[in-house]
Formats: sequence, C-alpha cells, structure tokens
Amino acid sequence: MCGYQNMMENLEKVGKVIACHDKFVIFTHLYPDGDGIGTSVSFYKMLINLGKKACIVCSSEMPYQYKFLPYVQNVLKNMDDLPFKNKFISIFLDCSDIKRIKLDETTVRKKSAAIINIDHHLSNTNFGDINIVDSSRSATAEIVFLLFNKFFCKYMDREIAEGLYTGILTDTGKFQYSNTTKQVHKIVSCLLEYDINPSCIYSNIYECEPVNRFKLLEVVLGRIKLISKEKLIYSYILEDDFKKFELPFSSNDGIIELLRSVKDIKIAALFKEIGLNLYKVSLRASENGVNVAEIAGFFGGGGHKMAAAYTAQGELKNIIRNLTEIIEKKY
Ligand code: 5GP
Ligand code: MN
Repeated sequence: MCGYQNMMENLEKVGKVIACHDKFVIFTHLYPDGDGIGTSVSFYKMLINLGKKACIVCSSEMPYQYKFLPYVQNVLKNMDDLPFKNKFISIFLDCSDIKRIKLDETTVRKKSAAIINIDHHLSNTNFGDINIVDSSRSATAEIVFLLFNKFFCKYMDREIAEGLYTGILTDTGKFQYSNTTKQVHKIVSCLLEYDINPSCIYSNIYECEPVNRFKLLEVVLGRIKLISKEKLIYSYILEDDFKKFELPFSSNDGIIELLRSVKDIKIAALFKEIGLNLYKVSLRASENGVNVAEIAGFFGGGGHKMAAAYTAQGELKNIIRNLTEIIEKKY
C-alpha cells in the first residue's frame, strides 16, 4: 500500500500521463462488480470530456444490475475489437492482479505505452508502471474521485459522479460495512453536487431482480451447511441452477451477504461452479472475525479482510474439505 505522500506523487504522475497522451484503454477484472464497472464508465467519460480517445475492455458479460450505467453497452470483450493500431495507455481499475482480466498479458503489455494500476485491494501485485493502491479506501471509486477532483474538476459531470457513486455504494455494502469512513461521506457529499439520484441508482441496482432469483435463493438456502466448530456457514450454486431458472450468471449477487448475517459465524462461503470441476469460492468475514483475504491468498486468490475470493479446481467435496481444514488450522 502506498503512503499519503507517495499516493499524491503518483496521482500527479497519472494526471501528467493523461494530459500528455491521446489514446487510453480501461481494463477491469473478470466478473466485474459495481466498483469495477462504475469506475470504468466514469474514467471513460472523463477521458471523452478531456477530448481523448478511449475504450473499456472487460472479458465478462456485464451484470444486469449495472446495465443502467451509461456506456456499459460500449464495453469491448477482447483486444481484437480495439480501434487503436498504435500503442495506448492502459488503465487498470479495481484489478488486484493483471491476470484477473483473463486476457493475454503479453499482448496487453506489448500494446501499452504505460500501465496505470488504480486499486484498493490489499492483495494488489503492483503490476503497473504507476501503481496507486490504497487498501484503506472503501472502493477504487474513492481514489478515482481524488484524481479527478485534483486535476480535472471542471470536467466532472453527472454521469461521472453516477459511476463513482455506484462504486462506493456497492463496495461499502450500501454504506453499512466498516469501510464506510468519514472520508467516504465527504466524497459522496461532493458527488451529490452533480445532481445524481441516489434512490434511482439504488433501485436500478437492488430492485430490478428477476422473479426467478427467488427460486434460486430457495435452492441455495436449502443447501446451507453450518460447521459449528469452525463457525463456518456455506452453500453452493451450480451452473445448472442458472440454466434451470434461466437466470444470468450474476444473479447470485448478494446471496453470500445473507449467509454472513447469521449470528455467531466467523466465515461465510459460497462455492459457485464456473466450469467443469472449477469453482469460484467467495468468502466473507463477520465484523470481528478473521482475515478472509489471507485464506483466499493461500489458495491463490485475494481481496479484502472482510470479502475475498479464489478459484479452485477439483471436486466440490474436496474443495469444501480443503477450506474447512485451513480454517480449522488457522483459527
Ligand atoms: P466476490 O466474492 O464478491 O466476487 O469477491 C470478493 C472480493 O474478492 C472482491 O474484492 C474481489 O475483487 C476479490 N476477488 C474475487 N475473485 C478474486 C480472485 O480470483 N483473485 C483475487 N485476487 N481477488 C478476487
Ligand atoms: Mn472495489
């Protein structure tokens, strides 16, 4: 994590790079969330306002919860679709590791005149030429706001504010998590100056659920297991569940937060099948609980103290056993 002075110097460097270049590609991670998408569309709009050429690349389908955001429909799925022949500046947002974009790293590095890495994950690998990584920030959107406010304040507009607000709203769990600091509220208060509509944004993200999601919820809640000794609660979700209920892949959003709300548990886990013998394991800690970023890190993933994830290969029962064993050993 960079200190305050270092962060200011790096913000300065990024401000200069933006001023001096013409073409930019914004990247965010696979299975993007509100912070990844919100900051991407905000950065895109800022670059357009500055008269630059810009694109967003994300290899996943955009989750339906964020389709209300402007420019989401312009997001490109791979590097072949880029309209730029020559080198460009790459801006990575909310992406702890360059590998998390699931695009060819060599191609990205070769085509980038420089890589800017802006993120708030504890586990960030500092893969950029300029790294602005501050894990004390609730969301990448907070850091992007600082950059815009310092250098491009007069180019801010409602759409940019809407994207940044979405990042902060979702990564703070609607201003409920312990990362909801005084600074967060100050930034949000500045964003509200741009005439954004918080209740409309809330409703777009959290009140546009397909009714079948409740059938999915019924199935996932029916599979809950509680391991009382380890204070672990978990469930799982299969690719077939999404198919059966004709639901998009992002419709499990928020389910793990329900698991975490159970009294006296330390860790909640949700195993999501993402391929043949391949699972994404989401972890959440209770407020006074453990550091799940450490557990995810052990399995090659990462995230934050309270919310982290990793990908695991193999049979589900073995993946569950491996997780249980590490929790038993460590806590
Ligand atoms: P979620 O369970 O909501 O997908 O992810 C929880 C947190 O872990 C998020 O901050 C997310 O960015 C991070 N995360 C999710 N998957 C991975 C992964 O495969 N690797 C790393 N390093 N972090 C991840
Ligand atoms: Mn984030």
